[in-house]
Amino acid sequence: MIKVEDLHKVFGELHAVNGISEEIRKGEVVVIVGPSGSGKSTFLRSLNLLEVPDKGRILFEGIDITDKKVDINRHRQRMGMVFQHFNLFPHKTVMENITLAPIKLKGIKEVDGKKRAMELLEMVGLPDKANTYPSKLSGGQKQRIAIVRALAMDPDVMLFDEPTSALDPEMVGEVLEIMKTLAREGMTMVVVTHEMGFAKEVANRVIFMDEGVIREQASPKEFFENPKDTRLQEFLSKVL
Ligand code: ADP
Ligand code: MG
Repeated sequence: MIKVEDLHKVFGELHAVNGISEEIRKGEVVVIVGPSGSGKSTFLRSLNLLEVPDKGRILFEGIDITDKKVDINRHRQRMGMVFQHFNLFPHKTVMENITLAPIKLKGIKEVDGKKRAMELLEMVGLPDKANTYPSKLSGGQKQRIAIVRALAMDPDVMLFDEPTSALDPEMVGEVLEIMKTLAREGMTMVVVTHEMGFAKEVANRVIFMDEGVIREQASPKEFFENPKDTRLQEFLSKVL
């Protein structure tokens, strides 16, 4: 579904992503871990061109989205993104937050958009929050709404950047549960997280990034039980 070829992203002197080649297959759940500043977010944001690569190509279902002639907005709509800090529109209700993009960008009829929104709100256990404003929600609820908002665009792949890092501990579980449900339903997912339990349980593949490169990747079992890279061994000894 996504093929990355020799991706580079430079900020001034800093090589944040320093030559990554990678493939994400349809239905895969790929978890990316690594120390802070290792380029995880930059890599993830490059996948939908929130960061424009300095070098390399990104093929989305065979189409090179780094090609200037490609309409990136059309492709971006097919990749849902969930951030650490929710990024909900504060002056809009939950329902408006969810239906805005489908109605405006995809031309979905309001009645259909609302119907789909209610189905998704049921799925995340928040059907009673449709008319609530984000400020009235807990962090966990906000993140569940942010996931629903991304899903309302009916994306082919979901990108998560530390979706539980800003949450109080007691709210982490409710968000991970939704992500597990999505994974079970076959959603293609790329997840940057520090939740090693999630990686062990849900990932098809775990990737370790350090200093802008992928130093190791393996099945969760192999990754956690038999890490080969010394930096990965050191990292795991700190986080496990
Ligand atoms: P991670 O998500 O693994 O913590 P990031 O991808 O956010 O790492 O950052 C990788 C490196 O690039 C860090 O050193 C960070 O400070 C730097 N960086 C990220 N975004 C920018 C930016 N917009 N401008 C300058 N430096 C940046
Ligand atoms: Mg990050």
